Amino acid sequence: MRRKLIAGNWKMNGSVSANASLLAEISAGGVDVAKADVLVCPPFPYLTQALDKVQGTAIAVGAQDCSVHDAGAYTSEVSAGMLRDVGCTYVILGHSERRSYHAESDQIVAAKTLQSLRAGLTPIVCVGETLEQRESGATDAVVGAQLKAVLEKLDSAEIAKIVVAYEPVWAIGTGKTATPEMAQEVHAFLRQVIASFNPEAAATVKILYGGSMKPDNAAELLRQTDIDGGLIGGAALKANDFLAIIAAV
Ligand code: 13P
Repeated sequence: MRRKLIAGNWKMNGSVSANASLLAEISAGGVDVAKADVLVCPPFPYLTQALDKVQGTAIAVGAQDCSVHDAGAYTSEVSAGMLRDVGCTYVILGHSERRSYHAESDQIVAAKTLQSLRAGLTPIVCVGETLEQRESGATDAVVGAQLKAVLEKLDSAEIAKIVVAYEPVWAIGTGKTATPEMAQEVHAFLRQVIASFNPEAAATVKILYGGSMKPDNAAELLRQTDIDGGLIGGAALKANDFLAIIAAV
């Protein structure tokens, strides 16, 4: 049985005061640890603030990206080791906003995945197709290639340590959610891809759904056999919505 993971990707949102209220409300919401693992991923400057605020709760903190490098003359970069050093336990990698606005290739995502695993972080590797790709019937080919590019760089033990997130690009921030059946179909396909590399890991690796997940559609999505949680954008910035999604598990 895979334990569900509900993760908030705050993207480039927040402020010291807004984060303090949001985290206080989420913590006070009595996150049901028996139900799911809960994670928040604020922007880099607020990671230590979030780590401080969630102390003593079951809420984990992760980042939204890391460098392909270990250390050195790489102005503006943040290494996986630094994230681990301050107390982060997860890192989101290969989000479609990184792939499209920062030309992040499958190879870069694979390199970052390795860096994060070596640092002791759990990488959340994002894959997803555009509307055009879906309409031309290329969804499996696109997400399969994105995932394989990462899996082929990992050994069996490393594959077992990753989390995958399926985020159809056309569903992100648009209010359009994949139907539970559409999402389940892709999740089952991604699980097969993992099985082709490591059959045992395929049974345990979590595959999250992301893309306009909200309190009113979360329960049905989370009920699907191969959907092991959510990677939530907009709704993760409202404590009541985020708590309602956790409650929907
Ligand atoms: P929304 O939930 O705002 O659609 O964002 C999803 C996402 O990109 C999470 O990483």
